[in-house]
Amino acid sequence: MLPDSVDVLVVGYGPVGAALTALLGRYGVGVLVIDKAPGIYTAPRAIALDNDALRILQDVGVLEGFDRCEIPQVTMRSPYFGHFGTMDTSASINGHPMLVTFYQPQLEAALRRKAEGSASVTVACSTTLLGFSDEGVQVRATLQDARGTRAEVTCKFLIGVDGANSAVRKAIGQEFRGKSYKQDWLIVDAVGVPDNIDHVEFICDPRRPVPHMVAPGNRTRWEFMLAPGESREQMETAESIRRLLAPWPGTDKATIERKAVYQFQARSCEKYRKGRVFLAGDAAHVTPPFAGQGLISGLRDAQNLAWKLAAVISNRAAVGILDSYDSERRPHALAMIRLAKGLGSMIMPGNAFKAVIIHGFIKVLRLIPPVRRFLESAGPKPKSEYPNGLFVPGKGRLKRGGLLPQARLRDSNGSLLSDQFLGPHLTLMSFGSECRLDSEVDALWSQAHGTIVSIPAQAEFSHLDGWCAVIRPDRIVLHDGPAADASELARQSLNLMRHS
Ligand SMILES: Cc1cc2nc3c(=O)[nH]c(=O)nc-3n(C[C@H](O)[C@H](O)[C@H](O)COP(=O)(O)OP(=O)(O)OC[C@H]3O[C@@H](n4cnc5c(N)ncnc54)[C@H](O)[C@@H]3O)c2cc1C
Repeated sequence: MLPDSVDVLVVGYGPVGAALTALLGRYGVGVLVIDKAPGIYTAPRAIALDNDALRILQDVGVLEGFDRCEIPQVTMRSPYFGHFGTMDTSASINGHPMLVTFYQPQLEAALRRKAEGSASVTVACSTTLLGFSDEGVQVRATLQDARGTRAEVTCKFLIGVDGANSAVRKAIGQEFRGKSYKQDWLIVDAVGVPDNIDHVEFICDPRRPVPHMVAPGNRTRWEFMLAPGESREQMETAESIRRLLAPWPGTDKATIERKAVYQFQARSCEKYRKGRVFLAGDAAHVTPPFAGQGLISGLRDAQNLAWKLAAVISNRAAVGILDSYDSERRPHALAMIRLAKGLGSMIMPGNAFKAVIIHGFIKVLRLIPPVRRFLESAGPKPKSEYPNGLFVPGKGRLKRGGLLPQARLRDSNGSLLSDQFLGPHLTLMSFGSECRLDSEVDALWSQAHGTIVSIPAQAEFSHLDGWCAVIRPDRIVLHDGPAADASELARQSLNLMRHS
């Protein structure tokens, strides 16, 4: 039985829909999540996650639910210059490894378990969205189950997380602008390759570029660009795959677990929102996988949107805060798409001449030590910060609109990650000293379910001693200033939430 009316209808129970549902469920928001498919999609897709994605999954509470391989480095090989680029990914940032590989169906199962653990969440698989109308005060949607039975559901907000061919996106008149790559790519996942690679390598041969990497469960992935004239049907056969894998010793003994052919796209729509309808994940933006950021951008969307919806639905914030979803997330997702396109021109340069120019240029650039350090430390990757959005403008010691660093705090019981102390609503965090709110602001802060946390002096936060900050539930810094001004910072932050 489907509910007649919910707070939020989530259309699409892929990884981004599941993460969004889990986060909304945490607030007790009434969610109906539907998917036209009966179960989790198992074809090979996302394989890499970065430290930001792991931090979001820490917040969702699923880190224990899926296996990961830490990747120490990413290398680039040219047929003309040999090894011409390296990214050192051996460090941890904000408490998590810079790069891991994972098995997407296992992560999706963990996200679904988390979502389904909330009493306010109803899940309907094999249920398709047929259409909807935004009536201004609510959205009315028509759904159909596998037997053809139709039902009408009303919701306060409808979120299209229905993937790259999103019907929701089309229904709100959003075009997907950008580029479609014409090349076919054959993705092959194998299990049991002897002497497996321990990192990620890009073989940037213009005739046949091949990203190649290790994944959990003794898996290996190759992504082969197909040449003109090589058809999907012909290249997906066991013999063709064996021929492609032949240069890697021992692959004849491995089991081919999954394969699929894709064409990549670099596209985004022009608005992530129309009225009460929002887009997130691949429904809003798609990227070629060279930077491994498609799903990660979707997870950022989910974390950005969930707390704002929850705050508006429970009347703790003005509906205007929802405008910041588009102004924060869209430019950031576009920047990630640009990064992936740039990497794409190195990985698949198109022809030998372009390969020599591009790979040679990078090789020369790497002779300049600061440039080399910049490239090797993932310097070109867009930072996790928003130039415009829901935060108090101005400069403090922290970057407002940027991610609060996460530290590993040590106490007598061992070490803890500092996000653990952040609440699901606004958190007033003071560093190295206590901060106090005056009684009037304290009452307002409590009404807003705000948390107050004092972090004892710690090496990681030593530059913030005597300072305090207001942190959003998605770990973005909303405001900061001296601890003595805590009441004023809290008051201004609440005003921003109430009057945006
Ligand atoms: C080869 C490849 C490699 C990749 N590598 C990476 C990587 O390393 N890192 C990374 O971050 N990303 C990567 N990606 C991208 C990543 O896989 C996607 O961004 C991610 O899976 C998208 O998740 P989603 O939830 O937005 O959409 P989807 O997973 O597509 O989910 C959409 C869901 O909506 C449902 N649906 C559609 N229409 C309707 C409807 N009308 N009614 C009801 N339900 C509907 C569908 O059944 C589907 O389950 C890769 C992708 C590919 C193809």
